[in-house]
Amino acid sequence: MAQSLLDQWLVNRMGWQDTGVPPSVEQLRDWQLVRLREIVTHAQENSSFYAHHLKGVDVSAIVSLEDFSRLPFITSDHVRHAPEQLLCVSHDEIARVVTLTSSGTTGQPKRVFHMAEDLEATVDYFGWGMSNLVGTGQTALVLMPGDRPGGVGRLLVEALDRTGARAVLHGVMEDADVAFDQCLSEDVQCLVGPAAHVNMLACAWEKRGLSADRICSVLLCWDVAPMAVVRNAERIFGCRVYRHWGMIETGLGGAVDCAMGSGMHLRETDVFMEIVNPETGAVLPDGEFGEMVVTTPLRRGMPIIRYRTGDMGRIIPGQCRCGSPARRLDPLVYRMNDGVDIGAGRLTLRDMNEVLYGVVGLADFSAWIKGGTLHVQACGYGDTLSERIHFALESIPAVGRACATGEIDLNIVVKGSLTPAIPGLGKRRLRVEQEN
Ligand SMILES: [Zn+2]
Repeated sequence: MAQSLLDQWLVNRMGWQDTGVPPSVEQLRDWQLVRLREIVTHAQENSSFYAHHLKGVDVSAIVSLEDFSRLPFITSDHVRHAPEQLLCVSHDEIARVVTLTSSGTTGQPKRVFHMAEDLEATVDYFGWGMSNLVGTGQTALVLMPGDRPGGVGRLLVEALDRTGARAVLHGVMEDADVAFDQCLSEDVQCLVGPAAHVNMLACAWEKRGLSADRICSVLLCWDVAPMAVVRNAERIFGCRVYRHWGMIETGLGGAVDCAMGSGMHLRETDVFMEIVNPETGAVLPDGEFGEMVVTTPLRRGMPIIRYRTGDMGRIIPGQCRCGSPARRLDPLVYRMNDGVDIGAGRLTLRDMNEVLYGVVGLADFSAWIKGGTLHVQACGYGDTLSERIHFALESIPAVGRACATGEIDLNIVVKGSLTPAIPGLGKRRLRVEQEN
């Protein structure tokens, strides 16, 4: 089998000579083990936090990935409270600092430091990923922020430039009709953006009755990618929809759907993924869902070592039919603490995403629980949208039961303008608001 673009990229990033043959799974694992040992040593020697956290760890005794998995975890609290202490280089070598405030959480924001080489590696990875989606001379609309150098939108544009494609940096979507007009005026063939915003654009597309032969590919990134949105985009744009998973802490790009097979190939050189039992911390075999724990073997500035992401996911067992040795992450990734007990069961944003984005004409929604009421604010079109949202919500077993017993009321508000239900790019949550 001919070596795929992914494997060419992989070999390059591994620093190997490109012989046209991808590394075997074993060779990739061996390479990862060497790099993991190196980053542990580097962190012990250069970061005040890791000097203490990994005190007594004898790197020469780490002779297998199982040995590596015995190292202690770090959590988002470490990144939140003392990010400088995780640094292994001086501030002069930091090219960009990203401050993260996720919606639904309170307290200190996280700060993540990137070196120029980290940003370059991400551009390189994006370039490979985008070359699967958009050809030379084609145009991609980037629905990501581009206001700052080194920001994700700018990195994507740089990556697209290198592949010979044309990038139109729209920025974070504020109005789907405006993005829609830009798709036509710029003759866009590829869309890149968060699922909620792409879904809104798909809605605008359908509302205006545009044909399904203009857009050639869609990449859903940044937040979770509900299957309902994947289906909407496939149906309305008539093209393949790719999903991406990544975190700022690991330098953005982390995994992207395989062009040939199913599942998202991990960026194995830069993100070493373990799936652990959230209660015991034990590493789980491929195929089982657990908490995703990540390590960045090549990030010299602010390495993260065995970082508990708080996200649940699984590795798809076996090798992909494309032949790559890179493991595949199941696109179904969800927050560990997703969900609110509503008396008759647990309601999760995951369930709501799948059910509500499946409602024809619903472009976007936000949801919160206050007192005994589940509030849904939606935008979209269609005369009976409100009734259909009501019906869809009641099809979620926990909601259906809670409505039947009177434990919860539904309050649905629909607006006609195609503007995001939650402004900006904050990760979506099912909010619980206290009664005044
Ligand atoms: Zn594959």
